[in-house]
Amino acid sequence: MKYIKLFYSLIVLASMINQTSCSSKREKVIGEETNEHYSVSDFKQVSKIDVHAHINTEGSTMIEEAQANNFRLMVMAVDVVPEYPPMQEQLRVRIKHFQEHPDVFIFSTAFTLEDWDEPDWSERIINKLQEDFKAGAVGVKVWKNIGMEARDKDNILIRLDDPKFDPIFQFIKDQNKVLINHTGEPKNCWLPLDEMTVSNDKNYFSAHPEYHMYLHPELPSYALHMEARDKMLEKNPGLTFIGAHLASLEWNVDELAKFLDRFPRASVDLAERISHLQYQSQLDYEKIRNFIIKYQDRILYGTDFQQLSDSNPSELKKVMNERWLLDWKYFNTDELIKVPELDEKVKSLLLPKIVVDKIYRLNAEKIFANAWKNHIQ
Ligand SMILES: [Zn+2]
Repeated sequence: MKYIKLFYSLIVLASMINQTSCSSKREKVIGEETNEHYSVSDFKQVSKIDVHAHINTEGSTMIEEAQANNFRLMVMAVDVVPEYPPMQEQLRVRIKHFQEHPDVFIFSTAFTLEDWDEPDWSERIINKLQEDFKAGAVGVKVWKNIGMEARDKDNILIRLDDPKFDPIFQFIKDQNKVLINHTGEPKNCWLPLDEMTVSNDKNYFSAHPEYHMYLHPELPSYALHMEARDKMLEKNPGLTFIGAHLASLEWNVDELAKFLDRFPRASVDLAERISHLQYQSQLDYEKIRNFIIKYQDRILYGTDFQQLSDSNPSELKKVMNERWLLDWKYFNTDELIKVPELDEKVKSLLLPKIVVDKIYRLNAEKIFANAWKNHIQ
């Protein structure tokens, strides 16, 4: 009996050794891949996608600049009044660009909460979305006005997990479209200005006190916004979902990892939140680098660039090129870089080529399969 036990122990030990050598072999393969990196001079040649852009004018500066730098765009409509034009006008402009530049430009639509209290509201929205999908929309964006601003007839804030949204999200799923969601705000929004971690949040919330929740303690907490979003996702397990702006979990990659583990069909875009990763990588470089490598299939590059009717073309081009290059440096090189959102310099992540390709292109091509027409790889 003793010998049999010993025999089995030896087998278990042998298989453990075998597993260890397998995993070290696997690590070696990953290690070899990590030797391949893009350089700054590769930026223009590499095919890239920006999944989070806004164009609200017939002007084509952003599209031309994207083309010149080997970028394709996913341009979002957003229910934000009065900063953006009315929804029909936003869609008209998007459809025009899509028809003229189908190899570079795809778009997502949005809906307003007008007539929310009407009993057939959900049905009306579904009919509208059907038209938009026919016109080429690949997804639908729901914005932070849900949860923060829009109220029903009883003056109660509308939540993202409201049952009225259920048939709409089901329809988006049945049509194989994508739900893009900007929920709540970065956690900084609930802090006083001088405690915020990055200057882009300080600037935004000092310009928009109406969204600075530290000043509005009577409004829902950060945790309540996250809860409403998560409850909605629990009700819609088959829905392909992009959490814009790192799903508003930009402040802590452990929280973001928990979210991605919990919702396997969710991805997140980096738009306007790379500075939050940079802030965290100043505190713990390896942690942030390992997080990005681990979740390389779930992260999408995006900028939040906006072209409005009064945008100055040369100024816009300058902003785009500076941002693109700075982000490219951060992900691809090992340079110590100065970014406008942080006082101290940031050590760049030197990510493997394959991780960069996934974040900058392959993940978006998977989610928006065959959406850009006649694109030559
Ligand atoms: Zn945006």
